[in-house]
Amino acid sequence: LADRLESAWKKLRGQDKISHANIQEALREVRRALLEADVNLQVVKDFIADVETKAQGAEVLSGVRPDQQFIKVVYDELVEVMGETNVPLAQADAAPTIVLMAGLQGTGKTTATAKLALHLRKQDLSCLMVATDVYRPAAIDQLVTLGKQIDVPVFEMGSNADPVEIAREGVEQAKAQGVDTVIIDTAGRLQIDQDMMAELIRVKEAVQPHETLLVVDAMTGQEAANLTRTFHEQVGITGAILTKLDGDSRGGAALSVRRISGQPIKFVGVGEKVEALQPFYPDRMASRILGMGDVLTLVEKAQEEFDLADAEKMQEKILSAKFDFTDFLKQMRLLKNMGSLGGIMKLIPGMNKMSDDQLKQGETQLKRCEAMINSMTKQERKDPDLLSSSPSRRRRIARGSGYKESDVSKLVSDFQRMRAMMQQMGQGGGFPGMPNLFG
Ligand code: GDP
Ligand code: MG
Repeated sequence: LADRLESAWKKLRGQDKISHANIQEALREVRRALLEADVNLQVVKDFIADVETKAQGAEVLSGVRPDQQFIKVVYDELVEVMGETNVPLAQADAAPTIVLMAGLQGTGKTTATAKLALHLRKQDLSCLMVATDVYRPAAIDQLVTLGKQIDVPVFEMGSNADPVEIAREGVEQAKAQGVDTVIIDTAGRLQIDQDMMAELIRVKEAVQPHETLLVVDAMTGQEAANLTRTFHEQVGITGAILTKLDGDSRGGAALSVRRISGQPIKFVGVGEKVEALQPFYPDRMASRILGMGDVLTLVEKAQEEFDLADAEKMQEKILSAKFDFTDFLKQMRLLKNMGSLGGIMKLIPGMNKMSDDQLKQGETQLKRCEAMINSMTKQERKDPDLLSSSPSRRRRIARGSGYKESDVSKLVSDFQRMRAMMQQMGQGGGFPGMPNLFG
């Protein structure tokens, strides 16, 4: 994907505005990436239409290529559509919280029931698992065995009882025992089938669950969309668990499930073992769907380019001696954002003799500078020389920021030294050290 995107983008280079024509090509690449990830075709079409609208509204910042900015919009939109943050399991006001598991046969419902129970038990919440799959001969045994393994009780009434009755009795028992959460495992079919749906609806009506989770196999691919629609329309789901993400699947089903039902994916299954359950994180899933790290790296690069664009403007200012306190603060924030104040400071001539300890103090110093600069008037920030000649101004800033007058004097003299040094470095054309500082 990265190679293809890269080649498509090479053709776009040198243009500074997102236009209908130049995103068409990148859109095709994104479309292909989503389809390869098994996102449902209709979902892909709708999603891309949305992103296109958004991207076209966006202005391209200088120093950034339209394609880079576009991919950032795609990624951000993907994260947003999938829910931005993880949504935890619902909790009933009065125990027990009732969770109903739904889904086709073989998707991992029974396994997910045990995984969820273990997850809750680790949070010191007591659980009861209810076995209502009376159709498959070994289904009840499977849950009982899992229950022993994780030390969580299982309620069952054998394979001759009515699933609705089992569910109702199971919930009654959970109430009587004061259990925190009761998880009802249900029977699936290989394909959507009206008997299965009818039974699921009856169970749901009987126990009134707080959470109805659709268990979806990540390998389901394109079909995940239809599946979700049917379950959501007929039964009504409140969330989903995406299983078998330890496989090759790029997880496009996550986008389909979310777009179609509007309900969040709450957990992902990443293996056969009972411990293999993780909360769902939309940002991780977004990069997996788009092609994992490749795109994220590109997004990060784009972000760095935003910063670089800022740095270039700054360089012009320094050279034209218009560098003031506002720029100084911006510069310091930029350095902070880049994450390694220490590493960057070392690159600045004259500062490389600082010890690591001193470098660690950089963060504290930045806060201090910010506070003092924030206490300056607009005029003072623009014309730092005002401060070197006026003790009363310095006193006022000291009072406003909560620092000493000597701190303010030091800030002013440091600033002036830095400005002089930068101008000296800049003389004779070019500013060799500068771009490296921010690259
Ligand atoms: P059910 O019919 O929906 O109850 O599905 P099961 O829970 O019986 O699981 C069907 C098969 O899928 C079993 O062999 C499970 O071990 C396996 N399985 C379930 N979840 C996962 C998962 O997250 N990863 C992998 N690799 N296998 C899983
Ligand atoms: Mg089962």
